[in-house]
Amino acid sequence: MLHLTDTRTRRVEKIEPSAPGRLSIYACGPTVYRFAHVGNLRTFLLSDLIRRVATLQGLQVTVVQNITDVGHMADDRGLDEAGEDKILSQAKQENRSALDVARFYEDAYLTDLSRLNIAPADIAPRASESIDLMIELIQKLIDNNNAYVGGDGSVYFDARSIDNYGAISGNKLDALRPGTRFAIEEDPEASGRKRFHADWALWKVAGDTRTQLVWDTPWGVGFPGWHVECSAMGVHHLGETIDVHTGGIDLRFPHHEDEKAQSDAAVGKEVVRHWVHAEHLLFDGRKMAKSTGNVLLLQDVIDRGIDPLALRLCFLEHNYRQQMNLTWNAIESAATTLTRWRTKIALWAEEPSAPMHEPTRVAVVDAFNEDLDTPRAIQALRRLEKDDSVAAGARFETFNYLDRLLGLDLVREVGKPVVAQELPAGAQALLDARAQARTDKDWAASDSLRDELAILGVVVADSTTGQSWSLA
Ligand SMILES: [Zn+2]
Repeated sequence: MLHLTDTRTRRVEKIEPSAPGRLSIYACGPTVYRFAHVGNLRTFLLSDLIRRVATLQGLQVTVVQNITDVGHMADDRGLDEAGEDKILSQAKQENRSALDVARFYEDAYLTDLSRLNIAPADIAPRASESIDLMIELIQKLIDNNNAYVGGDGSVYFDARSIDNYGAISGNKLDALRPGTRFAIEEDPEASGRKRFHADWALWKVAGDTRTQLVWDTPWGVGFPGWHVECSAMGVHHLGETIDVHTGGIDLRFPHHEDEKAQSDAAVGKEVVRHWVHAEHLLFDGRKMAKSTGNVLLLQDVIDRGIDPLALRLCFLEHNYRQQMNLTWNAIESAATTLTRWRTKIALWAEEPSAPMHEPTRVAVVDAFNEDLDTPRAIQALRRLEKDDSVAAGARFETFNYLDRLLGLDLVREVGKPVVAQELPAGAQALLDARAQARTDKDWAASDSLRDELAILGVVVADSTTGQSWSLA
């Protein structure tokens, strides 16, 4: 049976589904205003690992993961988020519509997940398409006297209307003082904007300058707060009990604390049974931050010719609860291990078949069950790799079976391209048109199509047998 560290109880807890045979997981999803960096991806691996363990045990798993495409503000450290909407700010920078930006980075995110063998969520609601759910939830909170319309027309959660705020993070209300976070604006209590400094916005009035990503509601034209999105989508798609809620450790406060307050107040009971958080990832010993240029994307790994699953193996060599320092050396060494394993496994596959090596299977499954102790699981596999007393066929069967937990494509052919070259959208039509232009000896059209393809990053070469392409 799977055990995980529950941030709220601060203990390793046995994960027993509330409904027999079914496990529900809510994984806090990305805010789609930029490429996810590898630290974000390590967090998204967490729900995938839980899903794999539970599935192997015969549970039917449902993972819901939101796509935040509105309402996440630039400064999310304070209770009440401040600054500009991250999507709108990026849209301005890229001179595109907010929707274009959101869909572009959502696609990129899904591509990264598939390259890391992280199964996509069963349900992936977009915040911008779930506004009705949020309005319904906010209205319920107002009716229950857990929320109110503030002096500025925004709707706030009344933090003092519940008695266990701070259960996940330990940040109790009486310790949350007005101050640093709010120093840049007038005192929200004195101005009558909200009743208490620790109250946070559920629905924000848009003001005159914001024209995109706004909705008309009983409280005027505005947009949702980031925290309320996850409450509304989680309860709607998974019901009043969610077995496991995952996210990065930085979401513990205020995002998850606020989400818990909203969901529990609306439903009238504790909604999430277990809160599970993945620790920070450092790169080259430093926090990853765009401001310092210390950011590693999965594409950077691929650009070095390294299989993205080497990064997955690298993650598995550390426990999700440990702060991990990622380096190029570590990634390259994982890539070496991965290639060696695939090579050996391919050779073992040729040998006479034999039943699985039971002690290794048990060791690896137990390690996953014990709070996802993946480093221990990898050690057990390294031992089996070197143990020549175990028949080759048995080693093949064991690695092949356990890859259901690892997700490393261990029986994949060695030497297969890291990522198959794929034409960008629209390029095939241009290539077809160019081939036709050349048949028609329309050289001007052929040249201008070549230029259009170059803009898409596709380089065309001509030979006696026709045109061929490669990616720039
Ligand atoms: Zn969330």
